[in-house]
Amino acid sequence: MKIVRTIRELRSELHGEVGLVPTMGALHAGHLSLFDAARAENEIVVASLFVNAAQFGQPVDLASYPRDEAADAKLAEGAGVDILFAPAEAEIYPPGFATWVDVGDAGEEGAARSGHFRGVATVCVKLFNIVKPRRAYFGQKDAQQAIVVRRIVRDLNIDVQIRVLPTVRDEDGLALSSRNARLSEEERARALALPRALAAGAREYGLGGDAVAATRNALNGLTPDYVELIDLDGVTILATAAKVGATRLIDNVILEGELT
Ligand code: AMP
Repeated sequence: MKIVRTIRELRSELHGEVGLVPTMGALHAGHLSLFDAARAENEIVVASLFVNAAQFGQPVDLASYPRDEAADAKLAEGAGVDILFAPAEAEIYPPGFATWVDVGDAGEEGAARSGHFRGVATVCVKLFNIVKPRRAYFGQKDAQQAIVVRRIVRDLNIDVQIRVLPTVRDEDGLALSSRNARLSEEERARALALPRALAAGAREYGLGGDAVAATRNALNGLTPDYVELIDLDGVTILATAAKVGATRLIDNVILEGELT
């Protein structure tokens, strides 16, 4: 695996059908599932490793985001990534950078995090233009993000296939997230209310009841930013976000349909 820091060097390495997996590092089995899918479907796998300041609202969230490039490089190499694109901030946002992608309505997650999806959208469009992938891989864990990316690609006629892969969870059901590293043992136990409440919501939905109300009632003392039913290309998803201590976690389950 090659670690590449500049756009110029990256472009000189690219040939054939490329699969791109955008990440912010602190890699875990969720990211590895995206690498595996990209490895199976493309000649060259590029993973980007870039903590995109533009998508963080809170400076403290950005400052405390876990970073360990050496560990990430090892995991990426083990998963068959060919090129790790790890640019400095100024390579992506050089002085004078002024153009942003405005995504319009981005559901409750967008409403809860002003400017977040503008940052996500801008960096994704830049990565698509830099890497020119045939396919790009995203996790269902960030369902609203997947929706936004699919919409950008459609609205701006970008020639890339967006693949969305299932959420990878710990054995007890907690969705893997780089942010889980910040949870204390007690907080981690309380965080389990998220997947459990979503499961309760999904059961209620199956019975023809109110999935959102059932999820809210089962959150076991956590106060959600929102509980929302969202539609991703005809797939119905039940999504929630809640703070556990100082850490904001998101999770969702599919109620109907299948993601691809
Ligand atoms: P991040 O590094 O958190 O920006 O995530 C990079 C990609 O990995 C995004 O497309 C996420 O949706 C995806 N991802 C994060 N956590 C998981 C998970 N537990 N299962 C599957 N994909 C995930």
